[in-house]
Amino acid sequence: MVAVPIADISQQTVARIRSALLDWYGQNARTLVWRTPPGSKARPDPYRVWLSEVMLQQTTTPHATPYFQAFTTRWPTVNDLAAAPDSDVMAAWAGLGYYARARNLLACARAVARDHGGAFPGTEADLLKLPGVGAYTAAAVAAIAFGRPANVVDGNVERVMARLFAVETPLPAARPRLKALATRFVIGDQPGAEHADWPQALMDLGATVCRPKSPLCDRCPVAFGCAALTTGDSGRYPLKVKKGERPHRHGIAWVLRDGEGRVGLVRRPDKGLLGGMLGLPTSDWNAVPDVTPPVSLDWHDAGTVEHVFTHFSLTLVVHVATGEGDFLWTPEADAMAGLPTVFRKALERGLGGWISPSRTTAAEAM
Ligand code: SF4
Repeated sequence: MVAVPIADISQQTVARIRSALLDWYGQNARTLVWRTPPGSKARPDPYRVWLSEVMLQQTTTPHATPYFQAFTTRWPTVNDLAAAPDSDVMAAWAGLGYYARARNLLACARAVARDHGGAFPGTEADLLKLPGVGAYTAAAVAAIAFGRPANVVDGNVERVMARLFAVETPLPAARPRLKALATRFVIGDQPGAEHADWPQALMDLGATVCRPKSPLCDRCPVAFGCAALTTGDSGRYPLKVKKGERPHRHGIAWVLRDGEGRVGLVRRPDKGLLGGMLGLPTSDWNAVPDVTPPVSLDWHDAGTVEHVFTHFSLTLVVHVATGEGDFLWTPEADAMAGLPTVFRKALERGLGGWISPSRTTAAEAM
């Protein structure tokens, strides 16, 4: 069937879709630890909204939830977070990925504490002035925490828009158009609870009904206005340009233990991948196999680990030894809990390799 042109969805239909989706959200909102349920008189704490939105960028709700709980238990307010040592926050962030975000998180918390008396500003324009706060986060906090009309567009919302309007332009080129389409649903200019509910309703629809694969169109509260449904292949949207293959890199990670069950770690340079985080000493990640180790010891090969970053995949050969040197000596359990995932994998491999150096290659996903 032929896709319905965008112009065929009238503003009246847009208003009906908004109304139907808000009703649906009132009955079907997901229960999330950072969320105030629809209809609640209490407004959500902007700190919790901001923290959850930063964590949810590029990771899933189930993965982010325990981190959110741990952060808000340890640092219940933005002032508490602002006062935390960098190393504690970076260690608590380990496993969430995108470590530049953890540094921005701290910079933003400190700016709110220092410049705003610990209270987040309530408009998109002022939120945008905070370090590390981009257009998406500013819109999300303005809408969800302060009930301001704002166009909050994440991947879920893009997908729903691409389907409602059967947008034939592939991502990422379609992004500005999808954002413009989403703006049509932001109706009214006075603050109110509907502006907080609307983006969350769209996100919930995208997460639970208008799913990336196999959308549940027969359960969809806005099917009456969906152009993709009329094509008979709603799951085809949003169209995507096929990505090229990720480059693959290689390197060596050195797991060095002393006689007291501690591991030798290094602090990575502030700039660059995993900047400022604790890590194992490694070679460059384009290394040839005979790179010189950080100290001259009797190194054993403990196998390899695989890790996938956004822009490349990596094979690390893990070498283990016992000895001394100028490192940050850290108990194994603390190292295991505080290291970014790629180093945790290598440490696990190294410690396993220590017990049984003949273990073979582990093929691990991200
Ligand atoms: Fe998504 Fe299907 Fe609903 Fe259209 S009808 S918005 S494709 S779930």
